[in-house]
Amino acid sequence: MSAQLTIRVDGEWRKAASGATREILDPADATPLAVVAEGGVEDTDAAVAAARGAFDRGQGEWPRTPVGERAALLRRVAGLLRRDREELGLLESRDAGKTVEEGRVDIDCVADAFAYFADLVVNETGRVVDAGSPDIHSVVVHEPVGVCALITPWNYPLLQASWKIAPALAAGNTFVIKPSEITPLTTVALIRLLHEAGLPDGVANIVTGPGDTVGARLAEHPDVDLVSFTGGLASGTKVMRAAADSVKKVALELGGKNPNVVFADACATDEGFDTAVDQALNAAFIHSGQVCSAGSRLIVEESVHERFVAALARRADRIRLGRGTDKGVECGPLVSARQLARTEEYVASALAEGAVLRAGGTRPEGPGYFYRPTVLDRCHREMRVVREEVFGPVLTVETFPDGDEDTAVSLANDTEYGLAGAVWSADPGRARRIAGRLRHGTVWINDFHPYLPQAEWGGFGKSGIGRELGPAGLAEYRETKHVYQNLAPRPVRWFAG
Ligand code: NAD
Repeated sequence: MSAQLTIRVDGEWRKAASGATREILDPADATPLAVVAEGGVEDTDAAVAAARGAFDRGQGEWPRTPVGERAALLRRVAGLLRRDREELGLLESRDAGKTVEEGRVDIDCVADAFAYFADLVVNETGRVVDAGSPDIHSVVVHEPVGVCALITPWNYPLLQASWKIAPALAAGNTFVIKPSEITPLTTVALIRLLHEAGLPDGVANIVTGPGDTVGARLAEHPDVDLVSFTGGLASGTKVMRAAADSVKKVALELGGKNPNVVFADACATDEGFDTAVDQALNAAFIHSGQVCSAGSRLIVEESVHERFVAALARRADRIRLGRGTDKGVECGPLVSARQLARTEEYVASALAEGAVLRAGGTRPEGPGYFYRPTVLDRCHREMRVVREEVFGPVLTVETFPDGDEDTAVSLANDTEYGLAGAVWSADPGRARRIAGRLRHGTVWINDFHPYLPQAEWGGFGKSGIGRELGPAGLAEYRETKHVYQNLAPRPVRWFAG
């Protein structure tokens, strides 16, 4: 595949109709990694037409392919992803700036998503409804929604794509995907694998290009039946507005401002203390904090606050930054100059508002978009850095009075988002009590970050609409139809004449 042929429409790799291209930069040193097609509205319309054709006329009849065959194809894709794990993990690392190890783990999770939805779709069948008469045969069945527009972000480029592509295909839909314009490379590679696995032409289409043209056109397009978007709140609200006129189905996975609530009883032993500190570090700084579920707000009980923050700051200072492909590197750069500038701006605003810098707060010398893991103490809910998503390696610290569960919960819930959160306590009753009161889509108890493909992922509040993964993640891509069959029809005689 030539470098610029990154748009795939109806089985054919193309340049952008306008001929425009974009350089994809390595965030570790801002040098060009690849050149991709910069698609526009014309390319988007062609891709939607191909997906529409493949759905309506059934080239290869994907929507009508027996579910077992669709599941088999998904399993073949999982196998191909595992075959190409090293290559794809490296590509993800170079494109998104994460460490190679993180890149490999991402690819494992992508393969797991395909395998999961393959298993799920053959078991999530319709149901027979008892209509109360032997003459009535009533069934509820699932059908594909139609043409899906899938719009994805840059932090977990292939993983977020797989949470959409795998259930969309499992359910029998056709789609057009628009990856983030700054990290499209692994998604382009996945489209190649789908065809290697035997997916008919026109079912999977991709347009590389910007959000305000390609993404916006997909969201408003009258021939698109569903738009599933993962990204920031500002773009998500635009997608929802653009989708309104055609009343298409909308699924949104947006940001988070995720609390990590630590009770002193979790730190009563040295081992408990070390574990809670270690996981708070991981919660905030993995992938330089560019994680929608990053534990970016530490909410810690006063009696353990000073010891906890001192230990955390010591360890944050020791995190080894560098190019994700270099040996011994623990944390890569931010993805772009824009993301770096945004992080610097949030830290400056927090310090101006009275936050106390305990670690980081600067960028290291040299090329690339690096920023040191930063711990901001003495934060409070009025600060912008506490309310808004930074999407960088910045942890804010707030405290609650000893034993005051109500304040801990109120701080944790004091966000317009509601994606994820954690509670640390040695008291299982307390931990469950707090978990029950947190208004977040995922709650971890004595852990942070794990997710399971079998369990739904998504947010309360402005973290989004709908769920990915789990049975609900498949249901997003299905219409539900009730078929009522009268085996002994008779006149109803409602009208006398
Ligand atoms: P973004 O909103 O800038 O971009 C996301 C995608 O939307 C990109 O492909 C972009 O080109 C496209 N886009 C931008 N404007 C658009 C428009 N007007 N219409 C249609 N598409 C448009 O987000 P980002 O900076 O790429 O990603 C970071 C954000 O994603 C963070 O807020 C993060 O929390 C969120 N995110 C959420 C989850 C989740 O599961 N909830 C997962 C990963 C990332």
